[in-house]
Amino acid sequence: MLVYFQKGFNYGQDGPGNRLVIHLQGCNMHCPWCSNPEGMEPDRNFGGGNGDRASGGGKMDRAPGGGNGDRASGGGKMDRAPGGGKLYRASVEELAEEIADCESLFFDGGGVTFTGGEATLQFEELRKLLAALKERGIHTAIETNGTHPRLPELFPLLDFLMMDLKQIDGVIHQSVTGVSNQRILENARKAAAEHPNVLFRMPLIHGFNTGAEDRKRFVDFAGELMAGSDGENVKFEFLYYHEYGKVKWEACGKPYRVKNGFVPDETRARFRQAFLENKIPLIQT
Ligand code: SF4
Repeated sequence: MLVYFQKGFNYGQDGPGNRLVIHLQGCNMHCPWCSNPEGMEPDRNFGGGNGDRASGGGKMDRAPGGGNGDRASGGGKMDRAPGGGKLYRASVEELAEEIADCESLFFDGGGVTFTGGEATLQFEELRKLLAALKERGIHTAIETNGTHPRLPELFPLLDFLMMDLKQIDGVIHQSVTGVSNQRILENARKAAAEHPNVLFRMPLIHGFNTGAEDRKRFVDFAGELMAGSDGENVKFEFLYYHEYGKVKWEACGKPYRVKNGFVPDETRARFRQAFLENKIPLIQT
């Protein structure tokens, strides 16, 4: 069983074309700026398989604080995930069938994107589902925090890989997200060297990763990734802090600890300039 808290369509935000984006439940980090705090907690049946509660076709239980539903849902056989914190469960076969039924909506190079929470925490089910979708010729993508040690096993099953780089300094990364970045950096190197289409996304948060030293570390690491790539398969994107998740943190009963994460225009410009000067390919989706 896969457990997810939201699904809906968007265009061009989480991969190419019109995409069905499925938010899988549970995350191993606790980034204070997270815009989907309702997706952090693992479900009690996480990873599935105890037949008592596992149920096909979208059986729901309460998630803490509520799903957001702020991205419009698409058509096909899918219902919009209602707000109010539902959790959905579906088997690999059921989800593969549902996704395949949406194929006519995957225009302009679209397909399906798995995000979260952290999609790779439900590793085996995700791997099987990606394999089933590849067999059907559906364009596949994930957005990941990059921590899973077996992430490279998914590379052959992914047409597009989006991976976060939040902070290159290991001590700061650990203290703020609760997780070491060592595996993330290793997986990033492998992705740049092996995967044909990778987008590294860097969420810029004032007070966490926007200082001059942070910028230099980002530039140096991005340069290392470019050096290990084929020069065409890797791109980078800055994502700037917003407060869309704040209300949901409060609804989840968790304190929202970011005081002023907004990134001033001049800081954004410095980051862009530093990347461009070093010939590191930046995109904006
Ligand atoms: S890794 Fe992503 S989903 Fe997980 S807590 Fe951080 S921002 Fe939220």
